[in-house]
Amino acid sequence: MSTSQVRATCPHDCPDTCALLVTVEDGVATEVKGDPDHPTTAGVLCTKVSRYTERTYSPDRLLYPMRRVGKKGEGKFERISWDEALDEIAARLQPLAATEPESILPYSYAGTMGLVQGDSMSSRFFHKIGASLLDRTICATAGATGYKYTIGASIGTDLEQFQNAKLIIIWGGNPIASNLHFWTRAQEAKRNGAKLIAIDPYRSLTADKCHQHIAVLPGTDSALALGMMHILIRDDLLDHDYIAQYTLGFDQLRERAAEWTPERTAATCGISVEEVEGLAREYGETAKRGEPVAIRMNYGVQRVHGGGMSVRNIACLPALVGAWRHAAGGVQLSSSGTFKKNLAALQRPDLLAKQPRTINMTTIGDDLLRPASPEFGPQLKAVIVYNSNPLAIAPDSAKVAAGFAREDLFTVVLEHFQTDTADYADIVLPATTQLEHTDAHSAYGHLYMMANNPAIAPMGEAKSNTEFFRLLAARMGLGDPCFKDSDDQLASVAFVQFDWESLKRKGWQKLEVPDAPFACGKFPTPSGKCEFYSESMKQDGLDPLPTYIANYESAASAPELAAKYPLAMISPPARNFLNSTFVNVQSLRATEGEPHLDISPDDAATRGINHGDMVRIFNDRGSFVCKARVTPKARKGLVVGLSIWWKKLAGDGKNANEVTSQRLTDMGRAPTFYDTLVQVEKAA
Ligand code: SF4
Repeated sequence: MSTSQVRATCPHDCPDTCALLVTVEDGVATEVKGDPDHPTTAGVLCTKVSRYTERTYSPDRLLYPMRRVGKKGEGKFERISWDEALDEIAARLQPLAATEPESILPYSYAGTMGLVQGDSMSSRFFHKIGASLLDRTICATAGATGYKYTIGASIGTDLEQFQNAKLIIIWGGNPIASNLHFWTRAQEAKRNGAKLIAIDPYRSLTADKCHQHIAVLPGTDSALALGMMHILIRDDLLDHDYIAQYTLGFDQLRERAAEWTPERTAATCGISVEEVEGLAREYGETAKRGEPVAIRMNYGVQRVHGGGMSVRNIACLPALVGAWRHAAGGVQLSSSGTFKKNLAALQRPDLLAKQPRTINMTTIGDDLLRPASPEFGPQLKAVIVYNSNPLAIAPDSAKVAAGFAREDLFTVVLEHFQTDTADYADIVLPATTQLEHTDAHSAYGHLYMMANNPAIAPMGEAKSNTEFFRLLAARMGLGDPCFKDSDDQLASVAFVQFDWESLKRKGWQKLEVPDAPFACGKFPTPSGKCEFYSESMKQDGLDPLPTYIANYESAASAPELAAKYPLAMISPPARNFLNSTFVNVQSLRATEGEPHLDISPDDAATRGINHGDMVRIFNDRGSFVCKARVTPKARKGLVVGLSIWWKKLAGDGKNANEVTSQRLTDMGRAPTFYDTLVQVEKAA
C-alpha cells in the first residue's frame, strides 16, 4: 500500500482558512486533519471539514455532465459527454457573445475562496467575451467599505494576539460556529483573566459562554457605538495623545457623540442604560489602565440598511482609547487587506474590449426578471453559475426562482452536488473539490498565505473550474495564450509576496507585518490617520461623521409595516452549515435536525405557539414553514432562523430567504438580510 500526506487548505468561506493534512492511501483520501504545526489551525478543524472525505466521496457527488430533460426546477437530467456539453454551451453563448455579450452573466461567490478556482480563468473568459460584470456583494462589501473609510484597508488585530487581551468584545458574530480558531484564543484570554462580552441580538452559542451578553435590536450596533463614544468622551476615558497624533476629526466627533446620551442609546438599541454605561466604562477603563482591549467584529453587524456605518462607528472606538498601541488591542473585521494579490494578472481585466455593465449579485431576483431597456441594457439570457447556489442564498427567493425558471434563460451550473440552483440548470457540470485540484489562498482571519495541493485524482469526470473555462475558451475560438495557463502558472501570479513553488512545499507562510499595525498611526487612509471625519464619505454623498441609520424595516422608519409585521428576523449561520454548503452532508444535517425558528416565550405566548409547533413565517415577499423553538435565546421582538437550508431539504421546499429583501446597504451595495420584519403564526 502506498501512503502519503498532502498539504492542503480549507477552501470554505470562513476566516480561519485552516491548513489541512490529507492522508492518501492508494489514491484514496482516507483522512483530512488540521496541520498541528500551523500556528492558527493548531491541528484542529471544525466538525464540518473534518468530515471532508464523507463529502468528497458522497454517493450524491455529480460525476458527469448532464442535460436537463424535465421542467426547470424539477431536477430531471440525462447524462451527456463533456464534448456534447461544451458544444451545446458554446453554441448557446457564441451568438450572444457576438451580438449582445452583456446578456451573459457569471454568477459566483465563495463556494471556494481559492484565488485560482475562484476567479482567474473564469474572469479571463468573461472579460474576453465582454459579459456583464458581477458585483460580488453578497457577504462583506458594506462592512469593508465602512471599515475602509475609517481605517483605510481591511487590516486589524492579528488573530495570534487576541489571547493577550484583557477585554474582548465579540460584536456581531458567533465564532464557535464560524470563527473557531479565534474562539480558542478568546478562551485562552478568558483563562488569563480577560472579560468576554458578546454583542448580538441572539444568545448564540458564543454569547452564552461569554461573561456578558448584550442583546441589541438588529441594526442598532451603530447607535451603541455612538453611545459608547459619548460616555468615553464624557468620562474622559480617552487617549488624548493618540487622538491628537493619529486621528482626524475628533472635535466634530465630540459634537456628534454628544447627541447620543446613554438614555437615547438604550432606547434605540432596546437595552438598559446600565448596559450602555457598563460596556463603555469597561472598555474605557480597561484601556485607561494600559491593558489591551480588542474587538472582534464580524459581518453580522453589516447586513442591515446602515451596515457600513455600523462597522465604521465600531472601528472608531479603538483610536479613541488608544487600543491600537497594543498588539492585542484594536479591532479585527478582516485581515484580507494585509495580502497583496495580483488580481489584474490573474483575472486580466485588460482583455475587456469595453467596460460592460455591472450586475449586483444581491439583486439577481429582480435582474433576471428585468426586460431589456435603455437603463438596464439587454435582458439577461445566459447565466453561468459556479461556486454559488443563488436559489438558496440570494434574498427575495421567490423572485430568484421565478428568474431562473424563465424558459428563455440558458443556465449552466458547475457543482459538486445537485443543489437547488442545479435543479434549474440547462446543463450541470461536475466540479472538482479541494482535494482534487490546485489552489492558492489568502485569508481573512489570519495572516498566512496558503497552498492547496491536489491529493487525489478528480472523481468521475469532474473538472476544475479553470479547466472548464480553458476548454470553453478553446471551443469558442478564443486564441489568446492566457487561456493556456496552467493552474500552477495562475497560482504563481496570485501573490506578489512569495514564491509559489516553495509555498506548495511548505503549505503556508506568514506575512511579514508589524505586530501592532497602527501603534504609530500610519493608517492607509487619505490623511494617514484614523478618520473620525471622512472627506471621502462626504464626496460619496454620505454623512462624513459616525451616525445612526435605522433599519429600512423598523418601527422607527416604517411604523405601518412594523404594525403589520412586528418581529425582526435574522438568519445567521447554523453551526453545521457554512452558508449553503454542507447542508446535504447527511451526518451534519442530522445534527442540525430540521429548520427551526427560535422565538421568545413572550412572543410565542401572544401567538399561542408552543415549543415544537410548526409555524409560518411571512411578510409581503413570501413565507416559509418550520418548527418553533420557544427559547429566551431570542429576545422579545426577535425571531431567528438559523440558516442556510437548501430549499429542497426543508419540509416545505422553502427557506428563510423567502422573506428577506433585495434592498441594499448604505454603502457597498450589499444585502440587508438582517433587516427583515415578519409575522409568525401557527401553521395550518
Ligand atoms: S470551515 Fe473554517 S474552521 Fe472549518 S476547517 Fe475550514 S477554515 Fe477551518
